Amino acid sequence: MSVLSAPHFHNEKAAYAYVEARVWPEGPVCPHCGCFGRIYELKGKSTRIGVRKCGDCRKPFTVKVGTIFEASHVPLRLWLQAMFLMASSKKGISANQLHRTLGVTLKTAWFMAHRIREAMRDGSLTPFGQGGGAVEADETFIGREPGEPITRGGNHKLKVMSLVDRDSGRKRSFVLDFINVKAISEIVLANVSREAVLMTDEARHYVKVGAQFSAHGHTNHAAGEYVSRFNPLVHTNTIESSFSIFKRGMRGIYQHCDKRHLHRYLAEFDFRYSNRIALGVNDVARADTLLAGVVGKRLTYQTARGQA
Ligand SMILES: [Zn+2]
Repeated sequence: MSVLSAPHFHNEKAAYAYVEARVWPEGPVCPHCGCFGRIYELKGKSTRIGVRKCGDCRKPFTVKVGTIFEASHVPLRLWLQAMFLMASSKKGISANQLHRTLGVTLKTAWFMAHRIREAMRDGSLTPFGQGGGAVEADETFIGREPGEPITRGGNHKLKVMSLVDRDSGRKRSFVLDFINVKAISEIVLANVSREAVLMTDEARHYVKVGAQFSAHGHTNHAAGEYVSRFNPLVHTNTIESSFSIFKRGMRGIYQHCDKRHLHRYLAEFDFRYSNRIALGVNDVARADTLLAGVVGKRLTYQTARGQA
């Protein structure tokens, strides 16, 4: 049977039940006072789907309160369709495509996509490379840095730095204003366990920070060396291949990416990469993981437009 024929994609009641089971795995929790247990479902004929009432503070609420769905008039079943499409499309899906597929306006589709990217954002602070695993670090360039003249060094492009934990397969990416020792060291030290083995290319900005880890393996890309001649585990091929998925997606689907939105696109590609098929995560499981991330990620239209 097609995944898309599941009732939560078509029936609003089923959509609420699906979201509730994932946002409230232990039963409903009042978003106003935090209590649980004494919560009643309102079932009157004129009651909207999913409305509950808290027995303690007496306030009504639905599962949408405090999530990316709050204050949205888009039916929950369409949100679930959009989330499934974004979670399962390897290179992403454009706001235009969502607009045509879901039958919502382009503006609504754009806003939904950005909210879904917020849900994809990984708030985890657990360092990579715990237990002595290998962590690859590298930078890539994309798009255009506003106001910078075109130079050979790539300064006129937007700068991205990423880390991949080879054991867990997870990826974390960051937008940088400058690529230099200070910026690179800060990210590496904040996100990589000291017991890890750091894997980089020969770039000089990794030399000093690399010395703080149990080992620092580096290749010499400039000399055509992509895997160390001395140790086949020393390479950055994992992160390089993740960059190529990111770049193909950004070129093909999201042609114009503003710097102020780049971190959200990175969150999207990191999310899919960290939950990819090769790690045993199928499309349905990936969409469910995404759904677990909707809480506490409310994004207003103003913040989506740029200030945040
Ligand atoms: Zn309450």
